[in-house]
Amino acid sequence: MSTLLELASPHIARLHAYTPGLQPTEAGWIKLNTNESGYPPSPKVAESIRRELGDDGSSLRLYPNPSSAPLRSAIAAYHGHGLKAENVLVGNGSDDVLNVLVRCFGGAHVDTGFTFPSYSLYPVLVGIQDGRSRTIEFDRTMRLPVAAIARSSAGAFFLTSPNAPTGVAFSNEDLESVLNAFAGILVVDEAYAPFAEQNAVALLQRFPRLIVVRTLSKAHALAGIRVGYALADPEAIELLDRVRDSYNVSRLSQVAAIAALEDVSYYNGLIGRTKATRDFYRRKWSEQWGWFAYDSATNFIFVEPRTTTGRFGPDVAHALYSFLSGKRILVRAFPNHPLTAPFLRISVGRDDEMVVVDKALLEWQHSAP
Ligand code: PMP
Repeated sequence: MSTLLELASPHIARLHAYTPGLQPTEAGWIKLNTNESGYPPSPKVAESIRRELGDDGSSLRLYPNPSSAPLRSAIAAYHGHGLKAENVLVGNGSDDVLNVLVRCFGGAHVDTGFTFPSYSLYPVLVGIQDGRSRTIEFDRTMRLPVAAIARSSAGAFFLTSPNAPTGVAFSNEDLESVLNAFAGILVVDEAYAPFAEQNAVALLQRFPRLIVVRTLSKAHALAGIRVGYALADPEAIELLDRVRDSYNVSRLSQVAAIAALEDVSYYNGLIGRTKATRDFYRRKWSEQWGWFAYDSATNFIFVEPRTTTGRFGPDVAHALYSFLSGKRILVRAFPNHPLTAPFLRISVGRDDEMVVVDKALLEWQHSAP
């Protein structure tokens, strides 16, 4: 008799699943490990969900709008730049959209490219399709390797911009250079773009091989609702629609997302506050303590901790990670590569949380050898 593992497709039997950040279930943690918002979503979101549920939740008997049509229109209107509903595909979080993209444009017949470091889900999605991953490594400057991407053999190249986990933004000038020279599809994963000064949406009109991916999980404080979307040429959207599940976004998620996108002034406030907190602590840690951190265009800080005796590196980052865990402060470590191992990625939380984190970092410096 075959084992279950032997019965699985060989490429699935070999696959290492994506490891999501820890999600502690008990209260009392300061959770700065998955770049969620520290602040609640617009109050209009909960109102819209209550309205959709009605008194007895009977609307839930019925399937949702299969293409999320009203939400596609709301997303197109939100972005402007001449975008219409046919330029939009909605998914169950941007992870779902990325998965649909890899199923559509990746696979065994073609290379799929991305940089290292970037979002570590991409190689897993390629592995699920039995595809071939091609990685282009940054150097420590984290500048975009435009020529290497343009020369790459990839059918589709996934670029996280601003980058995760470094927080570094790439200019539209750099993206245009890639788009002018690269023959494949360029997917720009803009999960963190609301915190950046520039984004690629304005380039869509001129570059039909550009696909921009967004999420409501970060700046819109809706990680739990699972809504992400792609913006692209209608021909690309039509291909993606062939691949996605028929009812991939729930009724409650569709109305919640529309309510969030309509409350622009609430989210402008939230984003402004998060950016101010980010810039304050990044500057403080680098100016007062000499900790290197990349200039962040996101809601997190990728920082290289140092002891007061000037030691830094993977062991120092690991020691600080453990110290913070002991204080129920959860951040993210990336120990598997020399470019990332000396760093910790700290999501920008609420101001009251950041005060506690800042104190803990100072205490660690006094206690570290
Ligand atoms: N892209 C990047 C770069 C991310 O960091 C994340 C969050 N882990 C996602 C996409 C996925 O976000 P979601 O599925 O919640 O939309």
